[in-house]
Amino acid sequence: MKAKIVLLPGDGIGPEIVAQAQRVLEAVASRFGHEFEFSSHLIGGIAIDTCGDPLPDETVAACKESSAILLGAVGGPKWDDPSAKTRPEAGLLKIRKELGLFANLRPIRLFDQLIDASPLKREIIEGTDILFFRELTGGIYFGESGREGSGDTESAYQKMIYSVPEVQRIVRLAAKAARNRENRLTSVDKANVLEPSRLWRSVAAKVMADEFPDVEYDVVLVDSMAMHLINRPKDFDVVVTGNMFGDILTDEASMLPGSLGMLPSASLGDGGPGLYEPIHGSAPDIAGKGIANPLATILASAMLLRHSLGLGEEAELIETAVESVLADGHRTADLARGGASIGTEAMGDAVMKHLAN
Ligand code: NAD
Repeated sequence: MKAKIVLLPGDGIGPEIVAQAQRVLEAVASRFGHEFEFSSHLIGGIAIDTCGDPLPDETVAACKESSAILLGAVGGPKWDDPSAKTRPEAGLLKIRKELGLFANLRPIRLFDQLIDASPLKREIIEGTDILFFRELTGGIYFGESGREGSGDTESAYQKMIYSVPEVQRIVRLAAKAARNRENRLTSVDKANVLEPSRLWRSVAAKVMADEFPDVEYDVVLVDSMAMHLINRPKDFDVVVTGNMFGDILTDEASMLPGSLGMLPSASLGDGGPGLYEPIHGSAPDIAGKGIANPLATILASAMLLRHSLGLGEEAELIETAVESVLADGHRTADLARGGASIGTEAMGDAVMKHLAN
């Protein structure tokens, strides 16, 4: 297999962690006889510093021609001035829009070796393995907004809009993913109150009945889901929901494993290149120290292989290598809880050792 992989290291710890994920992808390519061509491009604060634009045209063009994109993180205090003309995050929003990345996938998977880092009891979370599909380009975050009146009577509004095709396409993606897992899909909405949720619920039900009768399907209200996630998280397999509900629920769920440095995510569109990244930010407090945890980005590279290149076996190899590294007792500072720790590159070395076996 030949693939063009665009690297967008970005800011802060981004370049350090993306470098380790690139090594891992190179090792997989050589072990399985694939040819991956890498090119690195600017995004975020570094792009603002270099060319005044958080997403230069050249980066967009390279991404559009690629098979898949691996992103580090963007942002940092240097670019936080609220009066600045542009911000690093604008680059991230624009690349999602340019590539039509309407589905955000966030796997919530626990590593046995890290279970005690979770704020929840072992018996509640043990065995949790959820794949969230959050709709990323519609809903209330993109609805018309405005303010009316002034002073004590001023009001503000923001429209929540979902159309039939927007719901169909994300429900289809989530249902297909369920077939490759435990074959269960839960749709989350607020159909008892919101009209767009009532549309969501009826469209989702029709897609499931017509196209996925073999997939076990249920619906849960978002407020109940917030409770179930911390009470019985292991009951869920694939979860699909709208933009705002997904934003909140995936952040809640990301606390289940208890370690931000272990969670990857993917943003996918209709057939074009997908974008893969860790869920954490640019960690400016530890940037340049060589101590960042590269495992979330390495796991994002496994998602890239699985979802954009169809290389499931290779993806599993990386995920197993990460598990083995943890089983061997290797920890970066964020996972060590005061115990012995290794740096970013040494963690990359440890993963590479398992890939070579
Ligand atoms: P953060 O995720 O960068 O950091 C939160 C804490 O977790 C910090 O103490 C950090 O050192 C630690 N941490 C994060 N990733 C780590 C890793 N891989 N290894 C070890 N420790 C790690 O969140 P923040 O501090 O709120 O944000 C910092 C910057 O990142 C901000 O400018 C924010 O806007 C940006 N950000 C970017 C993205 C993105 O690029 N997708 C996402 C979130 C935040």
